[in-house]
Amino acid sequence: MDLTVVVPCFNEQRALPHLHDALCRVLPRLATEYEIVVVDDGSTDRTLPQVRALAAVDPRLGFVSLSRNFGKEAALLAGLQRARGRRVAIMDADLQHPPELLGRMLALLDDGRDQVVACRDRRHEPLSRALPAKVFYRVFNGFRGLRIPAGAGDYRVLSQRAVQALLALPEQHRFSKGLFAWIGFDTAHVPLPHVPRRGGRSKWSRRGLLEYALDGFFSFHHKPLRFAVHLGAALVLGSLSGLVAGVPALFAGVLAVCGVQLGCLGLIGEYLGRIHLETKHRPHFLVKETGGRAADRGSAVLCGASADPVQGELWSA
Ligand code: UDP
Ligand code: MG
Repeated sequence: MDLTVVVPCFNEQRALPHLHDALCRVLPRLATEYEIVVVDDGSTDRTLPQVRALAAVDPRLGFVSLSRNFGKEAALLAGLQRARGRRVAIMDADLQHPPELLGRMLALLDDGRDQVVACRDRRHEPLSRALPAKVFYRVFNGFRGLRIPAGAGDYRVLSQRAVQALLALPEQHRFSKGLFAWIGFDTAHVPLPHVPRRGGRSKWSRRGLLEYALDGFFSFHHKPLRFAVHLGAALVLGSLSGLVAGVPALFAGVLAVCGVQLGCLGLIGEYLGRIHLETKHRPHFLVKETGGRAADRGSAVLCGASADPVQGELWSA
């Protein structure tokens, strides 16, 4: 298999036929043998019947339908587990990731890279979305360790070696941008022009984006815990020197210390909650149905939890 295209879909009934048309135009020029793996992430509209219909007419298309909406990260994982291609592309269903860019990205991959990433041009995004994104990348990259290039999204092509590296990471909280950066390998970037969504609407509310950013941050950085320790020590020292100087605003000082203590407890709670989730070893997603090419994959019918938490999924083909 020369190329696999993985497409996570949540309520994409309007965009999907356009994406399929575009892929059928572009892919034959780019790969000798290719497959499209659509992951229906528990859509509540007519996405699943549509995917079934596409799989019935296109033998190159396979699909996996999850038992409910598990989120894009889980849908990506489900798709990558079924990607058999030597080269694997990941793209959104809404044509905001133009298939026409694939040629350039694959050429860079064939040049010896393991990852080629399309970096979003944020100039056309509303400030309400571009600004928080900018702040997130600043803060995330401000800590020593991993760097995520600003605008790097999920439109990328990977070598099968990079896909295997991703699948070997077992964590429950899958912040893909961080995981892609963590596996390393030679990476090239291409600019991604802004394209408006083809039908439907974005699945990200402001709150959802904030939670996604916090999840990403806390699953990759533990330094804030150390920062809390430093802050506590500085406050104790500060209040001691305040006492020596006979500061009358002792009350205000006590309040400030209480606030910091609460903040630090909250911080510890964030990490503790994450550990709690990780220790449950739940599967990342459950599969409700598979069809087309993806159906003959993975394994046969399995009922009960998978023995392997990395693959972690239930099958009921
Ligand atoms: N998506 C998904 N599960 C979700 C949310 C989104 O599979 O819970 C898919 C969605 O169908 C699309 C891609 O992830 O193909 C990106 O979503 P969206 O276009 O809403 O994000 P945006 O482009 O606004 O960042
Ligand atoms: Mg989109």
